[in-house]
Amino acid sequence: MTSVLNALLNCIFPPRCAVCDNLMNESERGLICPTCAGEIKYVSPPWCPICGLPYRPPDVNHICGECIKDPPVYQIARALGIYEPPLLELIHKFKYRGYRTIGKYLGKMMAERYFKDLDFSSLDLIIPVPLHNGKLRRRSFNQALVLAKEVSKKYNIPCRDALLKRTVNTKSQVALPKEERKKNVRGAFSLTNAHEIKDKNILLIDDVYTTGGTVNECARLLLEKGAKSIYVCTLARTV
Ligand SMILES: [Zn+2]
Ligand SMILES: [Zn+2]
Repeated sequence: MTSVLNALLNCIFPPRCAVCDNLMNESERGLICPTCAGEIKYVSPPWCPICGLPYRPPDVNHICGECIKDPPVYQIARALGIYEPPLLELIHKFKYRGYRTIGKYLGKMMAERYFKDLDFSSLDLIIPVPLHNGKLRRRSFNQALVLAKEVSKKYNIPCRDALLKRTVNTKSQVALPKEERKKNVRGAFSLTNAHEIKDKNILLIDDVYTTGGTVNECARLLLEKGAKSIYVCTLARTV
């Protein structure tokens, strides 16, 4: 019955690519067409072994200037792809236009991606970077939680989104220079139930890594309250 219904629905609303909106044929399963899928720029080495900033070959792995000048407190940060179209468009549709199906799709991609040096299965707990309550009410969902749930499901690692709270509704980080961003998020988070993170290896999940100021501030608090180590994974990162 479901397959008949699906076939009928496919006739009335044929599946379209979530990026270019072109019609997709029967064999093209998923949310985006093979052309758009092929255009996603995945992050791969050579890169900064700490923050995962990619370099162009023939450059080799080396710690980037930012990580030398101001080493992050987290262990490592990895991202699925570069924050450029078509990944950028998918993230925008998910985050600002509320297409949660796209979020789940991206979360699955994150969960299935092999991240060198970042073994999800060795971690104890997943924490999505929280939104401030005001923003959460306007958006009605936390994009980081949608992604975190997919990783949690795949690896069977508990996901706790109520532990970390964003207590200060910070200015958007987008337009701020790096030093300002750091000040902007300093002290913006609080933790409930510190005993739940004690000696835990934690995976922090967010949608986009820009300067790392937000995830680093979360990591600082979690480590201060007794976490053992913090790893970061985002869907995209800026370069
Ligand atoms: Zn497409
Ligand atoms: Zn770096």
